[in-house]
Amino acid sequence: MFFHVILTTECNLQCRYCFGESFEDFDEDFTDFDVDYALPRKTSYDLELLTKFCSEDPECVLTFYGGEPLVCIDEIKQIMDSAKPRHFMMQTNGLLLDKLEPKYVNQFHTILVSLDGDKELTDYYRGGGTFRKVLDNVNLIVENGFRGELIARMTVMEQTDIYEQVTWLADNNEHSFSSVHWQLNAGFWANDCARRNFKSWSEDSYISGVKRLARFWVDHMEKKREVLRLYPLLGIANSLLLGEKKSLLRCGGGWINYSIQTDGYIIPCPAMWGMKNYYLGHVSNAHPLKLKKTFVETPCSECDVLNICGGRCLYANITKRWSSEAYATVCNTVRGLIKAVESELPHIKRLISAGKISLNDFEFMKYNGCEIIP
Ligand code: SF4
Ligand code: SF4
Repeated sequence: MFFHVILTTECNLQCRYCFGESFEDFDEDFTDFDVDYALPRKTSYDLELLTKFCSEDPECVLTFYGGEPLVCIDEIKQIMDSAKPRHFMMQTNGLLLDKLEPKYVNQFHTILVSLDGDKELTDYYRGGGTFRKVLDNVNLIVENGFRGELIARMTVMEQTDIYEQVTWLADNNEHSFSSVHWQLNAGFWANDCARRNFKSWSEDSYISGVKRLARFWVDHMEKKREVLRLYPLLGIANSLLLGEKKSLLRCGGGWINYSIQTDGYIIPCPAMWGMKNYYLGHVSNAHPLKLKKTFVETPCSECDVLNICGGRCLYANITKRWSSEAYATVCNTVRGLIKAVESELPHIKRLISAGKISLNDFEFMKYNGCEIIP
């Protein structure tokens, strides 16, 4: 099992799509759900309980999450000194990576660092100076011996040219990332849809950009004999190549990838913090292998591409913050992504047959924080 350990609700950035939207969304009616808005800012349970909980699952993977987890460096060290999971991972904005000593950083199997693309775009979304600091820290941890997987994790919305930004991250003079994942800012807030241009952007820029990107990805395989870990493409290609019949929610939310709130209650995914009807027990007395599973319902349960999509997002499926018409535009992007990979599949198979790449190159650790379906 995978567990996001939410160390804090605090963050040291004020990004447009998170902090900005939360202000615009403040008065929105969320009354269908009983929500605890007063969660402790930092972990309020005894962290030894987490060690014990984790020890009951030999395959337990702990991912530090927030807010920004690195504002809780003492708690990170305390957990890493006592818990013995199969792997540690972290999702961070990267600003404080230089504050954690290499003896801890170098233990991480995977670190996902938030970067939206080049300097101009990252600083536009995340604030001036963010890009420089994050890139300096990324290069520092590599110099200090980090050899785990480093994934550039992009949040994507209308200012993003997906082709330009992903290819920049994969090949640049600052730090070229062989692993990139992106997530659409869509379906998370209730008030944003009406004032945004998501539909026209997705139709005019994003879907065609993803198609170009799939082309670039396969060209790179051919020329360099390397399968870049562009996670949305990789995850779908992996399923198609293996002939998988059915995918459950690919982020793992609700069935294999749970989250532990700052007060110790366990929830299906980190976005569902405070939603009391979905509490699955407490870290003090729940068993990690006996947690209730929650699956997506309509419209996903009736969708013709559910088997490959998996449902995209449990939180969006449950809360339905975007109307069904608006959410259909998101599903259109999923269809575009699937088509882009499907159309490259014969070429990929030829490259495998020719020995330029191997089927093993498409393997990855599932539920590592990359949701696959953006
Ligand atoms: S395409 Fe949309 S409706 Fe279909 S399974 Fe995915 S998220 Fe659900
Ligand atoms: S994709 Fe949705 S369900 Fe999955 S972890 Fe993210 S917010 Fe939660």
